[in-house]
Amino acid sequence: MSKIPAYAAAAAKAPLAPYSVDRREPGEHDVLIDILFCGVCHSDVHQVRDEWGGSLFPMVPGHEIIGRVKQVGAHVKKFKPGDMAGVGCMVDSCRECAPCKDDLEQFCQKGAAFTYNGTEMDRKTPTFGGYSTQVVVDERFTLKVPENLDPAGAAPLLCAGITTYSPLRQWNCKKGDRVGVVGLGGLGHMAVKLASSMGAEVTMLSTSRAKEADARRLGASNFALTSDEATFQRLAGTFDLIINTISAPHDYNKYLGMLKPMGTMVVVGVPPEATPVHAFSLIGGNKRLAGSLIGGIAQTQEMLDYCGAHGIVSEVEIIPIQKINEAYERMVKADVRYRFVIDIASLKS
Ligand code: NAP
Ligand code: ZN
Ligand code: ZN
Repeated sequence: MSKIPAYAAAAAKAPLAPYSVDRREPGEHDVLIDILFCGVCHSDVHQVRDEWGGSLFPMVPGHEIIGRVKQVGAHVKKFKPGDMAGVGCMVDSCRECAPCKDDLEQFCQKGAAFTYNGTEMDRKTPTFGGYSTQVVVDERFTLKVPENLDPAGAAPLLCAGITTYSPLRQWNCKKGDRVGVVGLGGLGHMAVKLASSMGAEVTMLSTSRAKEADARRLGASNFALTSDEATFQRLAGTFDLIINTISAPHDYNKYLGMLKPMGTMVVVGVPPEATPVHAFSLIGGNKRLAGSLIGGIAQTQEMLDYCGAHGIVSEVEIIPIQKINEAYERMVKADVRYRFVIDIASLKS
């Protein structure tokens, strides 16, 4: 065991503050990573503020982790010291149940070990995330990060990237598809980049007029303001697929109206409160309302390799850890362009 510096929330809604956590000595299959950057996901804010219920404290958030391998266990095959490595939302799962065997570890029947706000598979040892200087993870849950990608820009791929890549693949996003992306934040900007790289014609659906130029630069062909009710009439029946990243309560029915017949809206944003969906919103047009949770480890590697091949990274605003509480406030106000990433060197100074 060694103690390392971290930032933690001591209780629900408490500001993040300096803290220290124990990291286990690397076992035979473990990789010890010196963390370089950690992305800030809106899920960090929801969980620190206990907006979904059941949060565990003290909490060290952070599941968009990029670093360099410092040490590997005797049986590690995939990594050697110096490699660029990533850790996303999971650090372990049972590896034996049907979803685990199907590369869907996020749906492990025993409950995956999430990177923070959870426990290891022993169900006792708390997990602590990437707002810290080092992490020790089994190589099976450690990702290889293409060396051509900028490490700070690659960090958000570990959650925002896979969470948008996975539903685009599941719903077969392809050349010529009309895809609507709702909400231009961390997930939304990755959805725009990825869907447009797959050949889709992307429309950005945003509440922020000021983000139009950025949306187009990121790859959107069209931009529509969702704070204008006329948008919903004008775009009725338009999209094959909508990726909905909104983090706050809103009316799904209005967005379902913009799908073509047989179209699908995938919800990836997790507003704290439930919202009613009317049967007519789905029946009129045989529409589907679907969900998607991150992606399995194999698909996360596929996404990283895809981003390496296409030179895709996140647009980031790098912050020192000391600015993390301010960054949370800005995120809640939808004032992020388009992902805060913590420079972990600031935690060592
Ligand atoms: P983010 O960077 O804060 O972006 C969310 C965007 O949603 C905002 O930039 C804003 O875009 C829009 N928005 C915010 N409040 C809104 C409101 N009241 N009405 C309409 N639009 C609003 O957040 P993120 O990190 O991308 O995460 C988005 C959501 O996905 C969060 O709920 C997060 O917990 C969840 N998430 C889910 C998964 C999963 O596996 N399913 C993984 C990661 C995160 P505009 O300014 O363009 O309107
Ligand atoms: Zn996340
Ligand atoms: Zn399992």
